Amino acid sequence: MAEIESFTLDHTAVKAPYVRLIAVERGPKGDAISNFDVRFVQPNEGEIPTAGLHTIEHVLAGLLRDHVDGVIDISPFGCRTGFHLIVWGEPLVADIVSGIAQSLHAIAETVTWEQVPGVSAVECGNYRDHSLHSAREWSRLILERGISSDAFERVDVVH
Ligand SMILES: [Zn+2]
Repeated sequence: MAEIESFTLDHTAVKAPYVRLIAVERGPKGDAISNFDVRFVQPNEGEIPTAGLHTIEHVLAGLLRDHVDGVIDISPFGCRTGFHLIVWGEPLVADIVSGIAQSLHAIAETVTWEQVPGVSAVECGNYRDHSLHSAREWSRLILERGISSDAFERVDVVH
């Protein structure tokens, strides 16, 4: 099997919440795609419940694109401690932290249920499994702890 960078990371050494550049990959024409580890919860110490994580995913899919250019995809880890973020080009980690923090701030403070995109049976694969309440609470908690631009040491990004 191919070696996967994420599985070589020492998950006991990181200090969540953080954003970490996993890799930059280049296509045959030289286009760069960056892959980030957006870690919200300390690995093996907790996880975001599926309904809250699912709602955060739906809101981030829209909101993050307002704050970060070139977003291709942001999808939750199976361990439910964070998200993979795939972006065109080579944005700075600090800019990703800022975009994520602004999006979580909106989820915590202003986003209403009517504004959560794609929550009907037509638009989602498990539309019953959503919780804006949980998404808000977890967004608040993550922002309270602060999102570091270094996975191993707390480095606060000034917004
Ligand atoms: Zn969904």
